[in-house]
Amino acid sequence: MKIKVGLGYDVHQLVEGRKLWLGGIEIPHHKGCEGHSDADVLIHAICDAILGAANLRDIGFHFPNTDKNFKDIDSKKLLAKVIELIEAKGYKIGNVDATLSLETPKINQHIEEMQKVLAPILKVALDDISIKATTNEKLGYVGNEQGVNAWAVALIEKI
Ligand SMILES: [Zn+2]
Repeated sequence: MKIKVGLGYDVHQLVEGRKLWLGGIEIPHHKGCEGHSDADVLIHAICDAILGAANLRDIGFHFPNTDKNFKDIDSKKLLAKVIELIEAKGYKIGNVDATLSLETPKINQHIEEMQKVLAPILKVALDDISIKATTNEKLGYVGNEQGVNAWAVALIEKI
């Protein structure tokens, strides 16, 4: 069986007046991520991990932030498109593991819901999508709540 692994990373600014979308769900908070799409940093990192595993460039290549079609788009739609792209190349997801780095709000209570939303899009079992969260110990731009980071790795298998 042919398997391949990919790495994804993303960062967005946290600003007043935007909704906070993380892992495909809206999380109540006084700030949200700035961006052309809904700026779901976690989904973007997962998209890049999957695209990287299939050697299909990156999210900016497929969904440029200059394209009006992607303005404020639900990032779940981008993730679904990424799955179509790897399927066209003969792959399916094995598993995804991701880490969010943000100071507030606490998101541990939301992780199960994120898994339930993302698993059907990734076409995997709940057990094959892992999401973790950490603070940045008050250090740097994550620590002072100016931004949010996410990392992800994805394993893909030749169908
Ligand atoms: Zn992004």
